[in-house]
Amino acid sequence: MNKLRKKIREFKCNTLDWHKPIPTSTFDGVNLKSRCRYCNKVILKDSQGNWFSINRR
Ligand SMILES: [Zn+2]
Repeated sequence: MNKLRKKIREFKCNTLDWHKPIPTSTFDGVNLKSRCRYCNKVILKDSQGNWFSINRR
């Protein structure tokens, strides 16, 4: 069961580019910046409240 949940998280992070921020975030003057608690990527919050990674490939 835990393996499946991990797979789903990886799928969301890597394929859908949906991330879950850690509780701590910083404001860099333009965007709210945080880190994904699952994949540890640096993520930014857009004006609609969605988090996206800045080093997306
Ligand atoms: Zn992620």
